[in-house]
Amino acid sequence: MASIGKRLWYLKKAIEIGTVTKRYPFEPTEPPEGSRGKPVIDFTKCIGCGACANVCTPQALRFIDLKEYKRLELFYGRCIFCGMCQEACPVDAIQLTKDFELATDDLNDLYVVIELKSVRCEICNKYFTTKRIILKINDEVRDVIEEIEYTKLCPECRRKESSTKLVGWRALG
Ligand code: SF4
Ligand code: SF4
Repeated sequence: MASIGKRLWYLKKAIEIGTVTKRYPFEPTEPPEGSRGKPVIDFTKCIGCGACANVCTPQALRFIDLKEYKRLELFYGRCIFCGMCQEACPVDAIQLTKDFELATDDLNDLYVVIELKSVRCEICNKYFTTKRIILKINDEVRDVIEEIEYTKLCPECRRKESSTKLVGWRALG
């Protein structure tokens, strides 16, 4: 046990410093810099590539192909705030926040669902990717007309088309 002198010293210090604990949750608290909370998805930026769902180890994110739509589901009940989704997103559409207060009595509050329209292949008519991905790729290759033509095709038809062209070029050459 500490001596009386030491205990008096602690008492003096405690009086000098004052109260450091907070009456949380009755009074709000600001999480420290760098703390990780729930990720949020910016619907206006998301292109529906599914990269975030691919790296989400606890499967809090699921990417579902519904033919006409691609659906991205985020379930906070499984999220471990690891931030992998944020790192994988090519357009910064998913970002971690500092918000850690997720308690609720309604499970639906823990779900975020977004759906993006798919496009059909111009040859086989199958749905293959989202309209936003096509627009993004077109924007990136806008100077290469031939590439833009290929973005209208599903991977299978694109492969067939490009090998047909290659055979044609070989025959010409
Ligand atoms: S922060 Fe981690 S666990 Fe949560 S959704 Fe992103 S990848 Fe999944
Ligand atoms: S990685 Fe980004 S753009 Fe791709 S589906 Fe996830 S949030 Fe959307």
